[in-house]
Amino acid sequence: MTINFKNKKALVRVDFNVPLDKNYHISDDTRIKNALPTIQHILKEKGAVILMSHLGRPQKKRKEDGSIDTEKFTLRHLVGHLSKVLKTKVKFSPETVGPTASKMAASLKPGEVLLLENTRFQKEEAAGDEGFAKQLAELADVFVNDAFGTAHRAHASTTVVAKFFKPADRTFGFLMENEIKNAQKVLDNPVRPFTAITGGAKVSDKIMLLERFMDLVDNIIVGGGMAYTFVKAQGGQIGNSLVENDKLELARKLLEKAKKKGVKIFLPEDSVAADNFDNNADRKTTPSNKIPDGYMGLDIGPKAIEKFADVIRTSSTIVWNGPMGVFEMPNFANGTKAIAKAVANATQQGGAFSLVGGGDSVAAVNQMGLSDEVSFVSTGGGAMLEMLEGKELPGIEAIKG
Ligand code: AMP
Repeated sequence: MTINFKNKKALVRVDFNVPLDKNYHISDDTRIKNALPTIQHILKEKGAVILMSHLGRPQKKRKEDGSIDTEKFTLRHLVGHLSKVLKTKVKFSPETVGPTASKMAASLKPGEVLLLENTRFQKEEAAGDEGFAKQLAELADVFVNDAFGTAHRAHASTTVVAKFFKPADRTFGFLMENEIKNAQKVLDNPVRPFTAITGGAKVSDKIMLLERFMDLVDNIIVGGGMAYTFVKAQGGQIGNSLVENDKLELARKLLEKAKKKGVKIFLPEDSVAADNFDNNADRKTTPSNKIPDGYMGLDIGPKAIEKFADVIRTSSTIVWNGPMGVFEMPNFANGTKAIAKAVANATQQGGAFSLVGGGDSVAAVNQMGLSDEVSFVSTGGGAMLEMLEGKELPGIEAIKG
């Protein structure tokens, strides 16, 4: 971070959008843990911290009478846990902006922490309202954005607020710096061979990603439901597998483009197909282009696993986005598990740089306890996907100016 925080009040945008159980206890505090290094650094430098975040979707999930469910979505639920992990009593402003927030911010002393109420209680947040952003900015001397998970949104507290601080008075937090550094590592100067592993349900969600990878990588592995649109585009029989018939032509063009560019595309040679979208359905292993009617491909098969693992083993840079099958069902999780292991092995034994980001592959790697064996697991699903797609993220651009 580029700012000396001594005697400064820092407005810090964090991503405290944590899951809460029915008693409003935090069930997974990863996002809070991720934000601690930045907060602790500012406090150590004798600055004061004003934290702001969203929690859930209070505007969408209003009460029956149309009002905001303040009890469910208040950030007050986080104060106890936050005080414990920061080892200091965190103050709480029951409003995001307004006279109380201003008064509490004004009286904040170095080393103290104030948490503002949920930014999304204001409908001005998602609208990127300048007046609201200015009111937030007036609470502090400097601005730190450490909420990578919302960097792709041009909201008041994630983007617009930055313009009310001079370039020297705004900066990325450690989490955000790390995400940007790792994304740049694969996008700017990747060590080759560079392999992209894509999966998940739909081709339509990954078009921009695939187009971008064509210009960047040596190999593209395609698994998951999206693979069947490609298999069908090549004349294969895919039974009842997931398919986007309106994307067949696009799939054909992508395959052609890859050929012209010398990018190798790997589709699953075989699949584990089921007669129902159910963990206990009847299963059979079949070539992916000869899936019988009434059966759908729900995972990649053993030959596909072997081939994909081979490509991964000999790669020096790996980006993985999206599972190889319906990994939420144990009987169709083998492909995703095997690929996660292959990525971890390529990293640990082969010295590859591996980034897992954007989509359910992050959940898969975490579930398997392999997050420490890959080089980097992104914290921002949609934000990382957009970075890999080559989009400029408004939250990042606003800090750069
Ligand atoms: P995404 O969010 O794009 O990464 O997609 C993840 C979802 O794709 C997961 O919920 C998977 O269950 C689903 N998925 C993966 N493979 C298949 C498949 N072969 N058929 C249907 N859904 C799949």
